Amino acid sequence: MLEKEIAGFGASGRNGGWCSALFPRSTASLERKHGRDAALAMRRAMVATVDEVGRASADAGIDADFVKGGTIAYARSRVQLAAARAEVAEAASYGVDALELWGADRVHAAGALGAAFDPACARLHPAKLVRGLAAAVEARGAAIAEQTEVLDYRPGRVETAHGSVTCDRLVIATEGYGATLRPTHRRVLPLYSLMIATEPLPDAFWDEIGIAHGQTFADFRHLVIYGQRTADNRFAFGGRGARYHWGSAIRPEYDRVQRVFDHLRRTLGELFPVLDSARFRDAAVTHRWGGPLGVPRDWHATASYDPATRTAWAGGYVGDGLSTTNLAGRTLADLMTGTDSDLTRLPWVNHRSRSWEPEPLRFAGANAGLLATQFADIEERVTKRRSLIARVMGPLTGH
Ligand SMILES: Cc1cc2nc3c(=O)[nH]c(=O)nc-3n(C[C@H](O)[C@H](O)[C@H](O)COP(=O)(O)OP(=O)(O)OC[C@H]3O[C@@H](n4cnc5c(N)ncnc54)[C@H](O)[C@@H]3O)c2cc1C
Repeated sequence: MLEKEIAGFGASGRNGGWCSALFPRSTASLERKHGRDAALAMRRAMVATVDEVGRASADAGIDADFVKGGTIAYARSRVQLAAARAEVAEAASYGVDALELWGADRVHAAGALGAAFDPACARLHPAKLVRGLAAAVEARGAAIAEQTEVLDYRPGRVETAHGSVTCDRLVIATEGYGATLRPTHRRVLPLYSLMIATEPLPDAFWDEIGIAHGQTFADFRHLVIYGQRTADNRFAFGGRGARYHWGSAIRPEYDRVQRVFDHLRRTLGELFPVLDSARFRDAAVTHRWGGPLGVPRDWHATASYDPATRTAWAGGYVGDGLSTTNLAGRTLADLMTGTDSDLTRLPWVNHRSRSWEPEPLRFAGANAGLLATQFADIEERVTKRRSLIARVMGPLTGH
């Protein structure tokens, strides 16, 4: 394994720790593209993968704070409640995801009229998981060359900053960073997601807002937010909203945008006003970070293998890669060993997304999309109707 920094430097070591059954393309859009049976098979594989991550990490002796408590998506307006109802009804019609509609009496976020609860989600500590996995594969004989930047590659040969490496088969797993390499430059768009963590809060606080260990939370706004209660009782809370950078550039300073950090802290207070009450308002934000995730042009992740060039590619998970990378790993293992299995028949196998546009179109499109998503939330607040902008954007973002 050739790694430019250290194993876990990328999104895998700094994500929100939602080990979820989410896939960037909705079930309905998978059905439209691949047919109902294939869409249902993909959903079943994703739901099973949540438990598989827990099983595999326990088997490898990794304590990554894995607790499966499900995820609560608050509906904080009538429009959001209608969206929650529709999501639960759609899941029921497919019969795989066991979503539940919760009434206002069961949820404690400000203004929540209800929530959609998905039991197929675990909370974990991503850096503990990825460092544990790195140690586990090394113990089984794999070599990880850290501080080894790949400069370019072609079938059977990889050029690194320290020399060439030849290989029988090649797996490309660079996700958002693929944008910095020639062969994958336009295959994924690096989209930044940023996070904050607070100091540990007392159990009484968590009881008051109704978030148990193992539970993660979000709401039905369009500009994604996501949170968890960490094992040591902190909020780890993140969201999108940082802009796309010209030429798909990735730089350390893009991980930290004060405007977004401030917005995240404000949003936490809006969701749970007790955090801003005299009792807790001094609770400090102790950590701030961010990183790039990888967005394919059609928001369709893939696990692919080309036997002719003996090259595999897995990625395009958008914000849902924690568990999906596990499914990708198992799927690539079967594809590369020529094993015909349920995994190799899943509809994302060998899917090809078209490339992103060259600049300046990519810059204009990505940032216009971001703005449109922000406007969609404003539009819903003002009109109290489901956003027209979101409806137009839906097919472009895998819905
Ligand atoms: C802030 C944030 C929050 C997120 N929250 C969640 C979440 O809660 N749940 C969820 O499911 N998903 C989440 N995601 C997405 C998820 O983390 C990713 O989809 C997943 O980790 C991708 O894994 P990966 O191994 O494919 O890529 P990465 O983990 O990004 O790994 C790519 C690796 O390639 C290395 N690399 C880059 N360039 C080179 C080079 N030239 N040579 C050698 N090595 C190179 C990098 O250093 C990096 O270690 C989040 C992402 C971010 C950024």
